[in-house]
Amino acid sequence: TPPPSEKTTYGGLRDEDRIFTNLYRQGDPFIKGAMARGDWYRTKDLVEKGSDWIVGEMKKSGLRGRGGAGFPSGLKWSFMPKVSDGRPSYLVVNADESEPGTCKDREIMRHDPHKLIEGCLIAGVGMRARAGYIYIRGEYYNERLALERALSEAYAKGFLGKNACGSGYDFDLNVAYGAGAYICGEETALIESLEGKQGKPRLKPPFPANVGLYGCPTTVTNVETVAVAPTILRRGPEWFASFGRKNNAGTKLFCISGHVNTPCTVEEELSIPLRELIERHAGGVRGGWDNLLAIIPGGSSVPCLPKRICDDVLMDFDALKEAQSGLGTAAVIVMDKSTDIIDAIARLSYFYKHESCGQCTPCREGAPWLYDIMTRMKKGDARLEEIDMLWEVTKQIEGHTICALGDAAAWPVQGLIRHFRPEMEERIGRFCEQIAA
Ligand code: NAD
Ligand code: SF4
Repeated sequence: TPPPSEKTTYGGLRDEDRIFTNLYRQGDPFIKGAMARGDWYRTKDLVEKGSDWIVGEMKKSGLRGRGGAGFPSGLKWSFMPKVSDGRPSYLVVNADESEPGTCKDREIMRHDPHKLIEGCLIAGVGMRARAGYIYIRGEYYNERLALERALSEAYAKGFLGKNACGSGYDFDLNVAYGAGAYICGEETALIESLEGKQGKPRLKPPFPANVGLYGCPTTVTNVETVAVAPTILRRGPEWFASFGRKNNAGTKLFCISGHVNTPCTVEEELSIPLRELIERHAGGVRGGWDNLLAIIPGGSSVPCLPKRICDDVLMDFDALKEAQSGLGTAAVIVMDKSTDIIDAIARLSYFYKHESCGQCTPCREGAPWLYDIMTRMKKGDARLEEIDMLWEVTKQIEGHTICALGDAAAWPVQGLIRHFRPEMEERIGRFCEQIAA
């Protein structure tokens, strides 16, 4: 593969470069199939290389967190204490996948659970943790069963527990589950929930690496991030870094849904053009590319993009940030011209209003305001000045809350106003005409 700087085209990841080869249950998801696919292959050697080597290799790979925020993974793992002050360190895997449009971690846990479990051991060693928790969303019942079965298999083989894989390292892993609250996917709310409390986010700092689960150093990290770690270590960080572009390295799972011909979850190279991703893997937009209205490129928390930007935007952290959106969870929600975009964003406003934990005023009060105005706006039952007021409310929420849910409530509405203001004005005008008539 040529170095990222020399690439002119992306996409078409070769089968031999895919990390997740059982996404669609092509083979046995459990231990026999997993080992035949190369999982648990000489894991002992990786563990014996130790924490500094694991974290160093992760840093070199350029992997950025796959949960949505894209924080550099090796760096995050390196925040864990190198010398214990008496408190144990914990690994917590965030499997509370709830972002609308996102179903990538679900496929890993359903069909490739050993990739995650082996990854937990590797990440645990990297963080010098002796115990890990996988916190899975309550609705993922079948995935939990698959995970628990795979966990028993790993223990039975001696891959986990005392002297894991014969390496001399003791590591225990547990599965815990949520009860349907979106906010429990926020890392500090997740920690609260694991501790048996209401899932309400904590103020950061302190970050979990300093004060996390039970007040101990903790790293909360996403399923996909952990699951790719063993392959990165086996094939080498340079191999992983050869995909994508500078600062946007690697392969990535994309979930493509909405108005496409064949919705799917697929592993591709980061930085693939959005259009190429959809046409190569999801059978194209229903009715053809010209029938496209807008796309939410990274799960419901990021602003939508109109067709003219989707025509040539790249699917990575930096390109989508530049386009005033985000890669987020890489859940691509496609809307064709039959979509009432104002209604679609109003529906998201309902979601965030419903999921707000109510702890901080801008989110608790602002999210229902957004929803109330959007509910009228979709009928056109609003004044033109209310478009600016809606924008102002989003600005009062954004950056003024304890956790990112406040931003997530604000950004979809901002995307709508930024790109579809004429449609909003037209809707209001039409409503006024109807009233006048
Ligand atoms: P964040 O940027 O606050 O943090 C990202 C990670 O980096 C965290 O683990 C945090 O502890 C760590 N970090 C950041 N700065 C640090 C520092 N200075 N020192 C130590 N650690 C530091 O973002 P977040 O609130 O964790 O995540 C927001 C994202 O989550 C959104 O962009 C959205 O895309 C995504 N999201 C995903 C889902 C899902 O189902 N996967 C659901 C909702 C939201
Ligand atoms: Fe709760 Fe919303 Fe504040 Fe997050 S931003 S802590 S969800 S009220």
